[in-house]
Amino acid sequence: MAIEYKDYYQILGVSRTSSADEIRKAFRKLAREFHPDVAKNKATGETKFKEINEAYEVLGDPGKREKYDALGANWKQGSEFRPPPGWHHPGGRRTQGDAQEGRDYEFQFGGTGFSDFFEQVFGAMGGSKPESQPRRGSPGVNFSQQGEDVESDILVSLHEALRGSIRPITLQRRITCERCHGTGATNHKECPACQGEGQTTKVENYQVKIPPGVLEGQRLRLAGRGEPGLGRGKSGDLYLRVYFEKHPDFRMEDGNLFHDLDIAPWEAVLGAQVKVSTLEGRVNIKIPPGSQTGQRLRLRGHGLPLKGSERGDLYVVIRVQVPSQISEAERALWENLAQDSTFHPRD
Ligand SMILES: [Zn+2]
Repeated sequence: MAIEYKDYYQILGVSRTSSADEIRKAFRKLAREFHPDVAKNKATGETKFKEINEAYEVLGDPGKREKYDALGANWKQGSEFRPPPGWHHPGGRRTQGDAQEGRDYEFQFGGTGFSDFFEQVFGAMGGSKPESQPRRGSPGVNFSQQGEDVESDILVSLHEALRGSIRPITLQRRITCERCHGTGATNHKECPACQGEGQTTKVENYQVKIPPGVLEGQRLRLAGRGEPGLGRGKSGDLYLRVYFEKHPDFRMEDGNLFHDLDIAPWEAVLGAQVKVSTLEGRVNIKIPPGSQTGQRLRLRGHGLPLKGSERGDLYVVIRVQVPSQISEAERALWENLAQDSTFHPRD
């Protein structure tokens, strides 16, 4: 399976030497433009946003960025990617190798989240096997074995996490040939349906129900959508591990959301009414007089779902911004203020 290299730096429009802050800014700018909730052209916006989100998932995380950089700088966006020899990626799609049986299942997912390139380099986000042990067919029954469980990731927007949604996904996989039941032969001849391989490729479309209040890391189970069983063995299950999309306006931490709010010096001093984004839309909040950079205003219950029906909080984090360019008139006002002010921050 050919995999296309992703140039995450190019996707975010930053250089390889950009600082973490520059990368964050580039992401926020692009995410505002292409976020499915904001973008004018929803379809294009969504595809583009996924790409941006994936790029930031890597470049916005020092560990992942380092690993990505270790691939070297000579790769080109869209060129065929082969992991360097000895490259180890954690996890993977399948729960356990089936090498001893000579089986090789390839699963490809559409509409769930990260690209094949991402999966190849970083493994499934969870990086682990499903916790349930694969159940084997009862011993002594020849060639009958339950299929393995399969795990992948599903990227969920914060709005979806809150309200729930139905998402179409495409799953392309190798299945036991229905004509020859995996033997590769019919009437002592090569099976025409699978050319003797015993397997055929099947493309399946499912609707995945994302329940309201879904938690990050939670696994959605699609019974019987895993690897096919051997012989009369049942198919395994497909688990989709929920992973939240990065949001241009919010940082996430343990169910709480953080939103940086830039304010003018006079708003900080005098107090102000400003509009801030929440997952429910924009609301008015009051900036108290004398607010400082780093100060947090809490909007209780406006965070992410927690266990049960609880919700985390939204913290608006104040950042007092100073104008870098001012007019002559403004300069005169600041000079007056400097002369008359009784404020002496170093006394
Ligand atoms: Zn066949």
